Amino acid sequence: MRYPAVFFDRDGVLNEDFGYVYRAQDFVWKAGAIESIRSFKRKGYLLYVITNQSGVARGFYSEEDVRKLHMWMNDELQQIIGEKVDGFYYCPHHPFLGSSAYTCDCECRKPKPGLIEKALSNGRINLQESFLIGDKSTDLLAAKAIGMKGYLFQGENLFDFCKSIGVV
Ligand SMILES: [Zn+2]
Repeated sequence: MRYPAVFFDRDGVLNEDFGYVYRAQDFVWKAGAIESIRSFKRKGYLLYVITNQSGVARGFYSEEDVRKLHMWMNDELQQIIGEKVDGFYYCPHHPFLGSSAYTCDCECRKPKPGLIEKALSNGRINLQESFLIGDKSTDLLAAKAIGMKGYLFQGENLFDFCKSIGVV
């Protein structure tokens, strides 16, 4: 059985993008984000977060920090609406910034579709019924690269946006 899925970019879509957010204390949910997650879950969507986190390559924070924040996000969602994101996929790389193994020309940094492909490899997702919501053209390019619909969200309230495109 395959299910429709929503792929969210993280910073700027689910949370306010203050730049390199990695601590729960700096994390502010975007207006309408939790409401959107609840609504999609009720409609039977799988939910994935697909996020470039070059702050790791740049040495601003660690992969452990990224994973901890994602666990915290799911704890929050569980407490507030009794739901969770089904998977978090992040790219810790940067093509030229930093000075570690994370500085490389990887296959997962958006606009490449590697993170989405990784999610799809779980075999649970119906690609035709799925879509991505991002706030940058690189997000939409990643979706386009694997033939998935993408919507550009640059407003203030994610739930209002989802209503306006007719998906909730
Ligand atoms: Zn990468």
